[in-house]
Amino acid sequence: MSNFKHYIDGIKNGESFFNETFKLNLMLNTLCVIHAIYAILLFSFDFRSLGIYVVVTAVFYQVIRLFVSKGAYRLIILLSCGEVWLFAAVLEVALGRGANFSFLILATIPAVFYFALSWGIYKNKELVSLLFSIVAMVEYTGLYVYNIIHPKAIVETKQYMDITLTSYNYAVGFLVMVGFLMLLHWDMAQKTSTLSNKNVELNDEATKDPLTGLFNRRFMNQNLEEKVDRLLEEGRIFGLIICDIDNFKKVNDTFGHESGDDVLVNTARVLMSSLRENDVVCRWGGEEFLIAIDGNKKITVDVAERIRSMIEDMVVVSHGYSIKITMTFGVCESIPGLNVDKLVEIADQRLYKGKQNGKNQVVFE
Ligand code: GH3
Ligand code: MG
Ligand code: MG
Repeated sequence: MSNFKHYIDGIKNGESFFNETFKLNLMLNTLCVIHAIYAILLFSFDFRSLGIYVVVTAVFYQVIRLFVSKGAYRLIILLSCGEVWLFAAVLEVALGRGANFSFLILATIPAVFYFALSWGIYKNKELVSLLFSIVAMVEYTGLYVYNIIHPKAIVETKQYMDITLTSYNYAVGFLVMVGFLMLLHWDMAQKTSTLSNKNVELNDEATKDPLTGLFNRRFMNQNLEEKVDRLLEEGRIFGLIICDIDNFKKVNDTFGHESGDDVLVNTARVLMSSLRENDVVCRWGGEEFLIAIDGNKKITVDVAERIRSMIEDMVVVSHGYSIKITMTFGVCESIPGLNVDKLVEIADQRLYKGKQNGKNQVVFE
């Protein structure tokens, strides 16, 4: 039961469970069953020749199922619509207006719109849908006029015949209309959900570094300035850390570029794990990271020292090697009147100082 609920929720949320072949086969089989029931009703009212004609139409839907695997969707839609139009005309003329067979013609309109708009099987989908609708409308009106002009075409009504056939025609017509409109809605929901997933992917691609999953420099540049301006306006203090892996070129040269990549990924994990909710970290360059800390200089230096020590203790196992690295940190605190670029420059100078002074250290002055 819970599986069934999951399945229905999936359909509502736009997940696609059925492909086009499945949907077409389902439609043709349904039409076949609907026609078979028409045949039974007609035989039961003693309309034998009409009954035989309708049996042929039921078989017709099984025959055109052969085109499904060939992908001849346009032909199938044309043949199915053509059959319904002919069927409605034959029965309306033979039995008169009382049984309301022409109602079935209306049901072909949402069906054509569904295939044209959702499946995109016609080059000019609006024009084709409109043409099909015009044919349906002309036939619907034509049958009405025909029955006014030829009232004698109406056969002697048998007991319950009109009410039975009309009820079945209405039920079938409404079922088909609602069915295709629901299908159209689900297909659109599925397309919207695919599109929004794609948007999330594109946004990730634009803002994230593919190797480490951290934000990239572009994202940080765009967001930091805005965030920093706001913090400065609010009179709040924040810290910046620029850190860089020591002798990373040597890591690549000794263990290979792929192991270098593994070191970067593991370093990023340590950085992410050591930050709190309001802190932001990004990959600023090759083996260089920029971190914005929601706190004053003391807090920022503490964070940097904690990360430095965690990195020093970290062992990256990659391609059979156990790799150890260290990092150097340049730290600075926000200063009213100085923009982000200037603050980054100060942190960068301190990082450089740390590199000159022997690396593996946090410099904050
Ligand atoms: P220092 O301690 O002064 O920072 O020395 P360093 O060797 O870390 O610095 P250097 O700038 O000489 O070399 C950085 C190296 O980082 C060179 C570059 O090939 C490597 N690098 C940059 N991006 C990547 C990457 O995505 N993957 C790998 N494996 N290496 C990278
Ligand atoms: Mg380096
Ligand atoms: Mg560097």
